[in-house]
Amino acid sequence: MAFDLTQASVAAIAARIQSRELSAVEAAQHFLARIEAHRGLNAFVAVDPEETLAQARAADAAVAAGTAGPLAGVPIAHKDIFVTRDFPTTAGSKMLKGYRSPFDATTVARLATAGAVTLGKLNCDEFAMGSSNENSAYGAVQNPWDATRIPGGSSGGSAAAVAARLAPAVTGTDTGGSIRQPAAFCGVTGIKPTYGRASRYGMVAFASSLDQAGPMARSAEDCALLLSAICGPDLDRDSTSLDRPTEDFGRSLSDRLEGLRIGVPKEFFGDGLAADVRAALDAALKEYEKLGARLVEISLPRTELAIPVYYIIAPAEASSNLSRFDGVKFGHRAAQYGDLLDMYKKTRAEGFGDEVKRRIMVGTYVLSHGYYDAYYLKAQQIRRMIADDFQRAFQSCDVIAGPVAPTVAWKLGDKSDDPVANYLADIYTLPGSLAGLPGMSLPAGFGEGGMPVGLQLLGNYFGEAKLLNAAHRFQQATDFHLRTPEGF
Ligand code: GLN
Repeated sequence: MAFDLTQASVAAIAARIQSRELSAVEAAQHFLARIEAHRGLNAFVAVDPEETLAQARAADAAVAAGTAGPLAGVPIAHKDIFVTRDFPTTAGSKMLKGYRSPFDATTVARLATAGAVTLGKLNCDEFAMGSSNENSAYGAVQNPWDATRIPGGSSGGSAAAVAARLAPAVTGTDTGGSIRQPAAFCGVTGIKPTYGRASRYGMVAFASSLDQAGPMARSAEDCALLLSAICGPDLDRDSTSLDRPTEDFGRSLSDRLEGLRIGVPKEFFGDGLAADVRAALDAALKEYEKLGARLVEISLPRTELAIPVYYIIAPAEASSNLSRFDGVKFGHRAAQYGDLLDMYKKTRAEGFGDEVKRRIMVGTYVLSHGYYDAYYLKAQQIRRMIADDFQRAFQSCDVIAGPVAPTVAWKLGDKSDDPVANYLADIYTLPGSLAGLPGMSLPAGFGEGGMPVGLQLLGNYFGEAKLLNAAHRFQQATDFHLRTPEGF
């Protein structure tokens, strides 16, 4: 059978390039042509074929010289939240239009060291705030499964690019679900590691106590390859980076699932869960039982509180992080202004979109004297209790399974005027984020309108290998992750 580059896995592309049956330049050209042919999706916000091809030529030279890394020549693309020296970085905001970073984010640098070639930068919600990608200053992204629907967010361009086979793998970031939810909505696989395993250096900061980087690809196996390159200590550059050695996440992919205890939180299967999503997940859990896993009912009693807690803590941190965008050092500056204060005001009024402004205001409010104890402090206390609930749950299970989102991807525009409706849809991803746990989403079936349904797996701290193994075994037995949307 002829080698099909469009459908090939990261592992297969890397192997072909290493054996020189395929050149990195050919691989890059193939995906650049697909990106060009599917510009209508609006998944990419920056491409630079010359730069990409220069990187590909360097990868081919490294292969010829025998100095190539494990991902040599594999074409990938980065969420536009990661700063890159060789491509512009906007974070989905008008504030950073045309901005170029003098350095690469650690995640970008580590993947480059492994040999990956950058195809471009991917659209996302402004400063990663959103669940639909509709908050991007550079326009919405279409879901490849249905052009009238959202791809999810905030890593919407990332998920759409993988689903449409515009790149075999990409990076994303997850603060409250931004890798898992778009992966679910676009039928791809994504993993967010334990907080602190991936460096935050060079990720445009949203909520620093929550932000994590991770890969999205078609399979758990491919995610494992990228995650192994991404994770590792970066102690000098990120104060919350963990001194935990780099790990080969591929090593235990084929472990048997016999005896694996899968915790099913009853709060994740309540009234708010749509019937089509529930049906797909029930079938997926049955498949796990067939594979030898045992289902155990568990309780995460504070699940609903995760929404108010997250929507206090994340805006609080954002209001502080985004104070750097004031027109002085970088990014947008208003063309006309009076004194310094006026310059700040006009710059920020022009540069930020509505959702970002809303969060800065909420964040400033909950941190202000007189409200701090009632909101921010209280939220921190409940955050701790949510983390404790998980520790109790992990006494009776090895991984936790549930939905990623209550429904499949909704229609573009359906919730764009209703911030709270967007927030509520984050209910199943926020608890794991607040606890700092690793989590992933894998394709588990299809629901209403033929849209993909994702299964969320949450692990205990440093349980990435266990999650990837559980996902891989499921993908060995099912073909949901191999289905391609029509027209791609
Ligand atoms: N949807 C959530 C929010 O709007 C999560 C976003 C994210 O993980 N970056 O904040």
